[in-house]
Amino acid sequence: MTKAAATESLKIIPLGGLGEIGMNCMILEYADEMIVVDCGLIFSDLDHFGVEFGIPDFTYLRERKEKLRGYFITHGHEDHVGALPFALKSGLHAPIYASNFASLLIQERFKEYGLTETAELRPFRMGQKIELKHFKITTVSVNHSIVDSAALIIDTPVGKIIHTGDFKMDPTPFVGEEIDLKAFGRSGEEGVLLLMSDSTNVERHEHSMSESIIYQAFERLFAAAEGMTVVSMFASNVARMAQVFELAGKLGKKVALAGRTMEQNTRLGAQVGYVKGVEDVLISLDQVGNYPRDRIIVLSTGSQGEYRSALLRMANGEHGQLKLQQGDLVVMSSKFIPGNEKAIGRMINNLFKQGAEVLYEAVHDIHVSGHATRPELKKMLELVKPRFFIPIHGEYRHLVHHAALGRETGVPDANVVLAVNGDVIELTPESCAITEHMEESRILIEGREGNDISKLVLKERRQIGETGIVFALLVRNAETRRIISGPEIISKGLAAEGTEGFLIEEARDVARRVIIRYEDELRGGAVHMDLQEEIRVELRRFFNANLGKKPVVLPVILDL
Ligand SMILES: [Zn+2]
Repeated sequence: MTKAAATESLKIIPLGGLGEIGMNCMILEYADEMIVVDCGLIFSDLDHFGVEFGIPDFTYLRERKEKLRGYFITHGHEDHVGALPFALKSGLHAPIYASNFASLLIQERFKEYGLTETAELRPFRMGQKIELKHFKITTVSVNHSIVDSAALIIDTPVGKIIHTGDFKMDPTPFVGEEIDLKAFGRSGEEGVLLLMSDSTNVERHEHSMSESIIYQAFERLFAAAEGMTVVSMFASNVARMAQVFELAGKLGKKVALAGRTMEQNTRLGAQVGYVKGVEDVLISLDQVGNYPRDRIIVLSTGSQGEYRSALLRMANGEHGQLKLQQGDLVVMSSKFIPGNEKAIGRMINNLFKQGAEVLYEAVHDIHVSGHATRPELKKMLELVKPRFFIPIHGEYRHLVHHAALGRETGVPDANVVLAVNGDVIELTPESCAITEHMEESRILIEGREGNDISKLVLKERRQIGETGIVFALLVRNAETRRIISGPEIISKGLAAEGTEGFLIEEARDVARRVIIRYEDELRGGAVHMDLQEEIRVELRRFFNANLGKKPVVLPVILDL
């Protein structure tokens, strides 16, 4: 732990989360030991050629997997835990240290992936110290939009490192403790070599609002409701869920749950005692019709307009059990994640069309952020007084602003390191610098089975999406290689109807001419041309001349 113990530099390698919001994952490596802080995923745009999310490329870890001693999870959000099943499936086994609630969420996820047997989950308490050979990790309670969030104070041979995770400073969180500022202050007194701090909300100047503010806003809305009230939020926000349940009890209302993760997290939240009074007010969706409409509150998933989510199905009038009508109120208590605005906008329009009143962040104060704003970030820097500073968790502009804030609070210009994913940062008691950069290549995942798709596949999908696709079908005698039937031309997504029929006829002629050349060669006894490739090239040339674009052309030759 003392500086004298350091015989080499400590490597810090962010695999994700620096230069983007999401996919937080960072490697800390010293000598023969390596730990990973968070292991998250990133959601792509909702209709991005079938890609559902991205995960970090674990190559660096896999090549040194005998060094891996543990995953340290700061909290249970998907962008901090979502890639764990993929890390484990790729053979990167190590104990997973996570807070109480994060452990429960991880466990649920592991059940889905059939990993409960192999995973080694070790829940930690706040303030607990976990001692490895070179790394000594102390967990510190922070506030965030999910309960049981932790920062990590990591004592290493080169010095003390603080990783804040996602955090804000909330003097009155509805559930759990206030952030343990004393622990950060104590570290500051002892001397912190490096601070890595959440940059997400550095552009905001007002102190973040307390989670408890929501209580009053919800109470006013629920009390005045004339019809059914639907509240959508992230299912991981247990503190907000707890407020809804408490208010329902207070106002004599019933709560029904829409969406699988909402059911799961209500169960888990009640299990650990964070959500109280559930059994008194909870009803099933089937029972909604048994109560006066103004006594019903529905807690729903789908705040981002996600495909097939409960709220989206209500908006489209496709939910089997919940039909919206005049007088109903939809309260969207979450932020619009960049990239999702269009989908959410469409959904809000459709909710209005169903007759409901819709409240969302832009028109009503019904959401507070889980991230520290400028004054809080400044306070963190002042408490910790780090020698070196690396802004983390944010798009590049957030990192730049946070770096400037670091300098403002007195971190010397040369000691502020602006790093991005794939940088290899070397830390010694006297220096902190980027010494190498690995090309960052994330893995894209699609479908329920979680198959990864390659960049090539994605490129092909994009190409087909942009230009359409043409099949040229031929049947050939396997022995004589003479054409028996075809060419048949089939196209999808190519051109407007009408022009297409005419074009296809001509395209067939183009293919026929290639075949005539081929049959001439065949008669001559030696075929030099590649029939398939020749058809492909000629057809692309033809469509380019007529449509101004080169579709994907697939010649298919069947030898019978
Ligand atoms: Zn978070």
